[in-house]
Amino acid sequence: MDEKIESDYKLHECLNLPKVGVQEIYDAQLNQPKKTWRLDIFREANEEDLEENHYLETVGEFIWSTSIEVDFCPYCGKHLYEDIPLKVEEIGQYVHCNYSGSCAKFSSSLSISPGIALE
Ligand SMILES: [Zn+2]
Repeated sequence: MDEKIESDYKLHECLNLPKVGVQEIYDAQLNQPKKTWRLDIFREANEEDLEENHYLETVGEFIWSTSIEVDFCPYCGKHLYEDIPLKVEEIGQYVHCNYSGSCAKFSSSLSISPGIALE
């Protein structure tokens, strides 16, 4: 359950975390200047999805993803901001992206400038 530091972001490595479709990452999102810990839940396309949806092109590409800023890991209870000074009131935003159509659609509690490029 140590945090791995790779370049500029951290990943919470948690034995209780589901092996597929979930990760906890410390990084900025949607061009926000502030980095926060967030729980990312995502669905990757498989062969069947490609047959059913012609907008999807490759296995493994995201169909949708949801990011929720969190204070604690919901799987092991670890306080993720142990070494980072941040007030609880400053977190709690979310972003949901749907990539399954002709263009990515998203909803968010963050204020996002139009034309932002999604990852
Ligand atoms: Zn954990």
